Amino acid sequence: MSYTYDDQNIFAKILRSEIPNKTVLETEHTLAFHDIYPQAPIHVLVIPKGPYVCYDHFCQEASDAEILDFNRTFGKVCEMVGVKDGGFRTIANAGENAIQEVPHLHFHILGGRNLGRMLAKAE
Ligand code: AMP
Repeated sequence: MSYTYDDQNIFAKILRSEIPNKTVLETEHTLAFHDIYPQAPIHVLVIPKGPYVCYDHFCQEASDAEILDFNRTFGKVCEMVGVKDGGFRTIANAGENAIQEVPHLHFHILGGRNLGRMLAKAE
């Protein structure tokens, strides 16, 4: 299956500076900003600037430079927002089963409190 990118999604608009964001760090290929509805004391999103729907799409089609930049930026952001001591969770929802709301790859970084179990127990 190939992915189709919708450039009207909200993160595409942030990348085009059509709507504001609270930036943590910006590099050539990556942007990190605070989630507008934080679900933990620390809740940051890290996104590639390129048009990738999800992590699978990114891993398959991004350039080496984009992949390197994304991962190095992720590390720098963890340092900057102070999640390393207490621990944190990274989530990258993809598609319907994961209830991905914004169809532009984003890694959530959540920390600053006990986050509980990874998933609710299956019924
Ligand atoms: P997901 O369900 O994994 O697609 O998560 C989308 C996330 O984007 C949610 O945590 C939202 O709170 C967040 N979000 C939506 N609009 C904005 C925005 N304009 N700025 C920052 N975060 C946003």
